[in-house]
Amino acid sequence: MRAVRMTSPGVLEQVEVPTPTAGAGEVLLAVGAVGLCHSDLHVLDAPPGLFPTPITLGHETAGTVEAVGAGVTGWTPGDRAAVYGIVGCGTCRGCLSGAENQCRRMPPGGIGLSRDGGLAEYVNVPARNLLRVGDMDLTQAAPLTDAGLTPYHAVELARPALRPGTFCVVIGIGGLGHMAVQILTATTAVRIIAVDTSVAALDLATRMGAHHVVQAGPEAVERIREIVGPAPDGADVVIDCVGVDATLTTARTVVSTGGRLLLVGLGGGTLPVRPVADAPPTLPLETSVEIPFWGTRAELQEVIALGRAGLINADVQTFPLERTPEAYDLLRRGEVHGRAVVVP
Ligand code: NAD
Ligand code: ZN
Ligand code: ZN
Repeated sequence: MRAVRMTSPGVLEQVEVPTPTAGAGEVLLAVGAVGLCHSDLHVLDAPPGLFPTPITLGHETAGTVEAVGAGVTGWTPGDRAAVYGIVGCGTCRGCLSGAENQCRRMPPGGIGLSRDGGLAEYVNVPARNLLRVGDMDLTQAAPLTDAGLTPYHAVELARPALRPGTFCVVIGIGGLGHMAVQILTATTAVRIIAVDTSVAALDLATRMGAHHVVQAGPEAVERIREIVGPAPDGADVVIDCVGVDATLTTARTVVSTGGRLLLVGLGGGTLPVRPVADAPPTLPLETSVEIPFWGTRAELQEVIALGRAGLINADVQTFPLERTPEAYDLLRRGEVHGRAVVVP
């Protein structure tokens, strides 16, 4: 079968590989769609040794059951499913509490990160990683598994603070951010302020339900303060889907006392935490910072329910498998709007 693999650190190639067969407890899925996440670029840029090679990338997958392995019940060929990407150890406290995204034994990874993923004609996954999507378009289902799930989990963490009429700032309106805006619209009554460097991304945010848009840059903090009120007031929740120094500075400057800062983006920035009395603090008092990772299986089921109800819709640009490298180039240049999705 055809697969797009990271054959050695940083090297992306389309290759022919044997079609896998489903082992015990596994399901072979014919890939219908796979979303391209900015994290794939971080994986390609990572120093040698951090991720195994060769590996088929693609951790945002939906498809149709092709075959089931020994001992698998409840799935038959033709069933349509989305893939929960995390494969936890199943025995640590995180996994036992249903939060495989907090697995303490596995390095952060999953299907398409630490084992072969969806950028291929077929992918083998543990049966328990599949969730039913009914008759949903698979190009819509695939982005729900990460671009939908990750901001949904972040919103769940911050939910007690997302009171009606309060302000939530979403920074970075790409794959994750444009879903975050819709999730907030569908499940809260907060005022949404979208921030991005790109005017096209801000237009998308408005279409997805953002109440205010602010272009990132030197004026951004001032513009946000005009909306939320002057310091020491601020935004009750900030979700940073970029995570570089510039966005973290904006985030910690506009978050309110007692607010919540959710650091979703893995852009490599630093967030200083300095609660001192004799210098300006780097974060307001009582503010909490969380570093969400992906989400839980139960949350993915809820995200799929929102998708099936038509309450959230990924803005999708599709590419055939052969054009995957070109799609990643567009993503790197910030020229993908919403989510790029490969249809193998
Ligand atoms: P994306 O490329 O689709 O979107 C990024 C958006 O940020 C773009 O719209 C871009 O214009 C905007 N942007 C870039 N620099 C900016 C700046 N300085 N100020 C404001 N906006 C800026 O990326 P994505 O797939 O949505 O992923 C976003 C980040 O989240 C990546 O770092 C990715 O690795 C990370 N991520 C984290 C998790 C997690 O579990 N924590 C899961 C998935 C992705
Ligand atoms: Zn991802
Ligand atoms: Zn575990």
